[in-house]
Amino acid sequence: MPDTIGHDDLVAMLRGGAARVKANHDTLSKLDSVGGDGDHGTTMARAMGNLEKAIDDATAADTKSLLYDIGWAIMGVDGGATGPLFGMFFMGLSEAAPEAETLDAGTLAAMFEAGLASVQQQTKAKVGDKTMIDALVPAVAAFRAAADAGQGVADALAQAADAADQGADSTKQLAARFGRARNVGEQTLGHADPGATSVSFLFRGFAQALAS
Ligand code: ADP
Ligand code: MG
Repeated sequence: MPDTIGHDDLVAMLRGGAARVKANHDTLSKLDSVGGDGDHGTTMARAMGNLEKAIDDATAADTKSLLYDIGWAIMGVDGGATGPLFGMFFMGLSEAAPEAETLDAGTLAAMFEAGLASVQQQTKAKVGDKTMIDALVPAVAAFRAAADAGQGVADALAQAADAADQGADSTKQLAARFGRARNVGEQTLGHADPGATSVSFLFRGFAQALAS
């Protein structure tokens, strides 16, 4: 895999992320039944199905508009918090996507940062509140650090996936302060946050799709 990626690579990356989340939907729903209503896996599976459909329906190899369509399609998934949060992530990616066909690690870092910023417009949750933010913030930071260190896209994604894993794992020690799970806060101790775990599956799938 060269240091930059084209539209087809981006599509492979997105499909890889979707496939990994879908394959783990049971785990995600089980985690959500600890502090929530047990629907996170099915909601994420639907969201990722919508992502795949947006790719299938795309009529042009246009990264910016594909990411916009994906964001819109995920935003439309009913089932609470997930649609707006993950939908806005992809909308942010689209906003920062260049018109150019080829993406280098620095450009993709800026896109991920814009995705995170869009999510943060939806929620005041910070790292440590036991939400998806606990995985997304370190994943984006690790991707940026790798890009700034001169690594290519595939290597930077691998770093981001490792950071997302660690971030999701760190939520086991936390009591939920946001979302439905805040109602039972302490009861979630010892269990990872479902949304953070989704982010880790998503980035691992992204990384594996582009791993050489
Ligand atoms: P719901 O809680 O509405 O049923 P899901 O079960 O699909 O939605 O998603 C739950 C996940 O969404 C949580 O694990 C958490 O990561 C994330 N989440 C929920 N509410 C918020 C929030 N206000 N801010 C950030 N993340 C949130
Ligand atoms: Mg739920």
